[in-house]
Amino acid sequence: MSDDEKPASAPQERRRMVKPPTGGTAAGRGMGGKIKTAEKKSISSIEWIKRQLADPWSEKARAEGWRSRAAFKFSEIDDRFHLVKRGSRVIDLGAAPGGWVQVCVNRGAASVVGVDLLPIEPIPGSTLIQADFTDPGVDQQLIDLLGGPPDLVLSDMAHNTVGHRQTDHLKIIALIEVASDFAIRTLRPGGHFVTKNFQGGDAGRVLAELRAAFQEVKYVKPAASRKGSSEVYLVALNRK
Ligand code: SAM
Repeated sequence: MSDDEKPASAPQERRRMVKPPTGGTAAGRGMGGKIKTAEKKSISSIEWIKRQLADPWSEKARAEGWRSRAAFKFSEIDDRFHLVKRGSRVIDLGAAPGGWVQVCVNRGAASVVGVDLLPIEPIPGSTLIQADFTDPGVDQQLIDLLGGPPDLVLSDMAHNTVGHRQTDHLKIIALIEVASDFAIRTLRPGGHFVTKNFQGGDAGRVLAELRAAFQEVKYVKPAASRKGSSEVYLVALNRK
């Protein structure tokens, strides 16, 4: 989650997010006050909390009831590509704390199934499970919960970095690969896929597979993604 970042400018919104989001009561919980248990926290987590407190996107998310500033990243992607339709069936990989799920539910998705290593507070209109997506059988569990093939697969999965460049790189690529493989196997024809990616990452093989399986693949750098970071999103449109 190192890429929850400071923005350069406000996102362009097709549908302005004026309506309070569903399940938004947990937004920014515990983030608005003083850090009371600082002595128990690691330096990196204190730094992370300080960044969140100083970050206008996190502030905006708290004020509007979004679970995370990541909600603005997906809202911008959806504004541009119109991925969530009324009645859409969505699977969200790496869904905690639930910002993308809130956006999907708010924009009319009929069914949203999310998975994360971390527990997620319930969001009406969605089914959220705590599991490691890479564990055997979890992929099928998600399809069973959705009750059929998804129209949209989302992955904002990000591992906790270990600080060793090559190891972190391999972990990033592994998550992108496993999410892409799942999307290609399960999406209905015409369905779409969004995954977090990193500039400079060696996602060449995944990119080739996505280009073969989808009509179009685009790179997007949402405004809510910090300018200096390498985070980008791959948007694969219209499963063949
Ligand atoms: N899109 C989310 C939102 O809108 O609130 C934010 C997602 S956060 C950047 C990345 C998440 O990926 C973390 O919560 C992390 O626990 C999850 N994650 C990483 N590896 C995972 C795995 N193997 N299975 C499930 N979730 C995973």
